[in-house]
Amino acid sequence: MTGTMDFALSPEQRLYRDTIRSFVDKEIIPVARDWEHAGRYPAEIVETMQNLGLFGLLVPEDYGGMGADSVSFAVTFEEISRGWMGIAGILGSHSLSCWMIARHGTEQQKDRYLPELASGARRTGIALTEPGAGTDLQGITTTARRDGDHYVVNGTKMWITNARHADPLPVLVKTDPNAAPAHRGMSILLIDAGTPGFQVTRDILKLGYKGPESCEVLLTDVRVRADQLLGGAEGRGMQQALSALETGRINVAARAVGVAQRAYDEALRYATERTAFGQHIGGFQAIQLKIAEMATRVQAARLLTYWAAARLDAGERADTETAMAKVFASETALYCSLESMRVHGGYGYSQEFEVERLYRDAPLMAIGEGTNDVLQTVIARSLLTGRSAVR
Ligand SMILES: Cc1cc2nc3c(=O)[nH]c(=O)nc-3n(C[C@H](O)[C@H](O)[C@H](O)COP(=O)(O)OP(=O)(O)OC[C@H]3O[C@@H](n4cnc5c(N)ncnc54)[C@H](O)[C@@H]3O)c2cc1C
Repeated sequence: MTGTMDFALSPEQRLYRDTIRSFVDKEIIPVARDWEHAGRYPAEIVETMQNLGLFGLLVPEDYGGMGADSVSFAVTFEEISRGWMGIAGILGSHSLSCWMIARHGTEQQKDRYLPELASGARRTGIALTEPGAGTDLQGITTTARRDGDHYVVNGTKMWITNARHADPLPVLVKTDPNAAPAHRGMSILLIDAGTPGFQVTRDILKLGYKGPESCEVLLTDVRVRADQLLGGAEGRGMQQALSALETGRINVAARAVGVAQRAYDEALRYATERTAFGQHIGGFQAIQLKIAEMATRVQAARLLTYWAAARLDAGERADTETAMAKVFASETALYCSLESMRVHGGYGYSQEFEVERLYRDAPLMAIGEGTNDVLQTVIARSLLTGRSAVR
C-alpha cells in the first residue's frame, strides 16, 4: 500500500495567505500596540481590507464577493489575528451575516444587500445576545409584533460587535413569544441603520478585543417592513443563526491560532535576545520546554482548524469537528499567551510589549461562538449518540 497525505495549502491558498500576511506585517503589526492602547478605531486598516475585497470573503462571486473556501477563510482570520485580534472582529460577524443572508435571504434581500456588503460599502454584524440570555438564546425577550405590512420590534441586545457600523443589523426576535418549543417562534429581521427607535445606547468597556465596538442596542417600537424578515418566513430564525455557527467556530478557532502563533513568535524572539547569567535565556531548559510545548500546541491547533474547515468545504456536517477545533485552539491561545508572558519575565507585564495584549485578547475565544464548556457538551453528545465518530 502506498500513498501520501498532503497537509499543505494549495498553491492558490498559499499565494492568498502570503498576500494577507504581507498586509498584516506592513499595515497592522506596526500600529497595533499604540492604536489598541489609544482605543483608536482602525479606519485606515478597514479601508485596505475593503480594497483587498475581504468584506466579501463569504459573499458568493455572483454578488461580487470572493466566495472563499473555508480553509482560506480560516487563513485570513489566523493571519489578521497574528497582527491584532480586534481587527478580525471587524470582519468576523460581518462575514457570518453575509453567509447567512446569502444562504437564507430572499432574492430581493440578496440583491439589495450582498453587493454592497461584499465591497464593504455596507457593513454588518449580528444581534443575538441579550442582557438576560446568551447561551440560552431561546430565552430572549425581544419581540416583533406584526402590524399590517410591518413588524414592531421592542427589546434590548447586548454585546453587539460592529453595532455602530452595521447596516443592516440582523436581529434575532420572537415573532411568536408563546410558541412551544420557543425556537419555532423565533425569526431574524434585517434592521437598517437609522430606523427610528433603533438606538446604540453604549459601548461596553472590555478587557481586550479593542478596535471593534461591542454595544448595547435598544429597540423601542422600531417599525421594520415585513419584507425584511430573513428568508421571508417566520419561525426560522434560530435555525438560520445556528446554521452560521459552524463557519463562526472556524472563524474563532482561526483567530485563536493567530494569537497563539504570535505569542509563540514573541517568546521565541525574546528567548534569543534576553540574556541572564551570561547566556541567552533560550539556553535554559525551563525556557526550552515552554518553547517546544507552545510550538507543538500551535501546530496541533492549526491542523485541527484546517481539518475542520476542509470538512466543511467537503460539504459534510462538521458541528463536532468545528467545535473541537474552536475549543482546542482557544485553550491553546490562552495557554500560549500566559506561557509567552512567563518567558518575557517582568516585561511580559508591560504595555510596551505585545504579549500583554495577546493575554487580554485570548479569553474571548473561549467565550465567543459558544463557550468552551457548552461546546464540549455538544461534542460529547454527538459522540455518545453515535452521530459523529472521530478517529
Ligand atoms: C467581546 C464580546 C463580543 C461579543 N459579540 C457579540 C455579537 O456581536 N453578537 C452577539 O449576539 N453576541 C455577542 N457576544 C455575546 C456572546 O456570544 C455571549 O457572551 C456568549 O454567547 C455567552 O453568553 P452569556 O455571556 O450570556 O453567558 P451565559 O450564557 O450566561 O453563560 C454563563 C456561564 O454559564 C455556562 N453555561 C450556560 N449554559 C450552560 C449549559 N447549558 N451547560 C453548561 N454550562 C452552561 C457558560 O458556559 C458560562 O460559563 C459577545 C461577547 C463578548 C464578550
